[in-house]
Order: sequence, then C-alpha cells, then structure tokens
Amino acid sequence: MQNRIRTRSVHAGIKRSQFGENAEAIFLTQGFVYESAEQAEARFIESGPDEFIYARYGNPTVRMFEERMASLEGAEDAFATASGMAAVYASLASVLRSGDHVVSSKALFGSCLFILENILPRYGIEVTFVDGTEISQWREAIRGDTKAVFLESISNPMLEVIDIGAVCELARESGALVIVDNVLATPVFQRCLDLGAHVVVYSATKHIDGQGRCLGGVVLGTAEFIRKTLEPFLKHTGGAISPFNAWVMLKGLETLELRCEAQAETALELAAAIQGHPKLTRVIHPFLPGHSQYNLARTQLTRGGTVFTIEFREGKEAAFRFLNALRIVGISNNLGDAKSLCTHPSTTTHQRLSAELRQELGISDGIVRISVGLEDVQDLTRDLHNALDTA
Ligand SMILES: *Cc1c(COP(=O)(O)O)cnc(C)c1O
Repeated sequence: MQNRIRTRSVHAGIKRSQFGENAEAIFLTQGFVYESAEQAEARFIESGPDEFIYARYGNPTVRMFEERMASLEGAEDAFATASGMAAVYASLASVLRSGDHVVSSKALFGSCLFILENILPRYGIEVTFVDGTEISQWREAIRGDTKAVFLESISNPMLEVIDIGAVCELARESGALVIVDNVLATPVFQRCLDLGAHVVVYSATKHIDGQGRCLGGVVLGTAEFIRKTLEPFLKHTGGAISPFNAWVMLKGLETLELRCEAQAETALELAAAIQGHPKLTRVIHPFLPGHSQYNLARTQLTRGGTVFTIEFREGKEAAFRFLNALRIVGISNNLGDAKSLCTHPSTTTHQRLSAELRQELGISDGIVRISVGLEDVQDLTRDLHNALDTA
C-alpha cells in the first residue's frame, strides 16, 4: 500500500549520494562529467531516470522536488520551473500552435490572463473567455477544434469555485487538454487529476515554499505529456529552476500539509468571526455557507483554502484605512505565506485589468484579500477587529 500524504511529504523522491546524508543534498552544479566518451554519447541518445546532462534539462535536487511533487499530486511525472508563470506558459505553449483554439475562465491570476489575452493571440491562437462558474458557457465555448482548456479554481481574489469534473467532461468530447492552475486550492485540498484534469500547474512560490523565500513552479501530468510535450519545450527555452530554489521547495513540502491545514483552519475561523461586520458588504470564503458555490466547494475540496476576501461598504478609503491599521497582518500581494498578508487587488494585483473586467469579476474598490498565515488565531482576530473598527 502507498504511504499517506504526510509520509510522502517527507520521504518521496529522496536520492542519497554515496555519503548517505539524511537531509536532501543541494547539487549546485550546472553540468555532469561522464566516465567515458561512450557514456557521454549514450546519455545524449537516451538518459536514464537518474542520469543528467545539464541543469537546464534536469538536476538531482530538482528531480527530488519533481518526484516528491508527483507523488503528492498522484501524477505520473512532473517538471519544475523557475516560477509559477514559467509553468503556466510552458503548459500552454508546449501544446498549442497557430490556428488552435483555447477556452479559459476569465477569473485568472493577472499574469495568466496576460498570457491568454495578449501573448497567445500574437501567435495566431484564438482564446475564448467564459465565466467559469457557468457550465453552460463552457458548453457553448468548447468546440471540436478546442485544443486546451485553462482554469483556476479556487480563483483569486474572488474565490470562485469551478466544477472541474463537469468542465473535463465537456472537454473530453473535443479531446482538449484540461490545465488547472491549482495554486489557491493547494495539492492538499483539491485533487485535480482525480477530477479528470490532465495537467496541474503550481506556483511553488506560494504554499509550497510557504515561507516567502524563493520563486518556483511545477507542471504535473502523465509521463507522456511531461516527457514528450513539455520537456522538449522547457529544456530548450530555459525555464529551469535553480537547484537551490528546488531544495527550498523540497524542504517546504515536508511541512506543506501541516501548514496548509493550520492556515485553512484559521482562515475559516477568521472569516466566520468577522462575517456580518457592519462595515462589510460580504465575507467570501468557499466553506462559508453564503458562498455562491458552497455545495460544490464542499464536495470538490477537503478545505476551503487559506485565503478569504472581504468587501468594504465604503470602498477604497475604508479598505485603505483597514490595511493601514493592521499591526500583525502585512500589506503584500503574496499569498500562502507563514505570515498573514493582505492586499487591495483593484490598486495592485488587478490594477492592469480594464474597469469593465474588474466589475465583471466583482473586484470592486472595496475588495480586500487576506492570505492567512500561521500566527495564533486569537491574535489575528484581534488585529482584524481593531483594523475593522478603524476602517
Ligand atoms: C502567484 C500565482 C501565479 C504565478 O506564480 P509566480 O511564481 O509568481 O510566477 C500563477 N497563478 C496563481 C493562481 C498565482 O497565485
């Protein structure tokens, strides 16, 4: 029987050198030497699983991170990248060619939206955007020639939940590859591959590091997809992660489940504690009964994530007074960190979007996103209540 998640978080993918080190080693090397010219020749024809050529293609520390991620996700294989955006871009660009059609939900992380809206169309790729929560819109948009479907669920910052199983069912008819950006739901709370998705991408910068140090990303899928489609694209375009960053991520994975569980528990408790506050029009969290996809969230996710979103009745001024009054929670656009962080999306992460799109997505000037960290829940509750009083 396969070990459970906490055990795999600590042990999966480990490769020990001849010294038998306990902690994973950082193989900070660009290249590898061969025992003979014949061995070099053979390795360039075909490298075995633990044979390396050049760190842009692979590295033992990076491989440990990829194998541990694949084990946690239940994927056949994985390829790590320099950032989450390198993972997102490679998952799309390695598959698509001029003339192809893509369907995507429009509630996306800003840079993902930029790729789909601005970059892919430059290469003759047509992208149709849908409201991801409306299955009828997916049904209408996915065509016989749709090559890929892209979505983010839980979405940022409005925390929409998309029925991944239903979207996969629709995509199956046209043979489209379903790619899910699973950053907010984390590998701990949402099993995208079990729901029918083909490819899962992460910004490891978020919960996987979880302690605010390094950028990184990872793409997961079948061995066929990772080795035949993604790897040739990535190894020649250079989105490789540094072995040092991969090592930080590898160590982050050891505590991923513990951190995510604790952060998610605090997030739901805080959201519930400030729900109904007179200065707020709403408190959004997938596991609060008022959430518009509450029932779906409860079946698709084991927890509602580590982030919740609030909306101030009096807009930007109240939101800014709230942010400036926080003492423990920092003002930052990052999320998934051990430190609780708060952001005002309409003036920062989502500033670039048109006012129309922001309105469609519900990102008003009163919206504030709170990423919950590992601090004590009572201290955080007090900090939020004090800041709400000031707002
Ligand atoms: C942060 C983030 C990304 C991009 O990741 P980077 O590591 O910053 O490149 C992509 N998608 C989502 C949902 C994110 O939160």
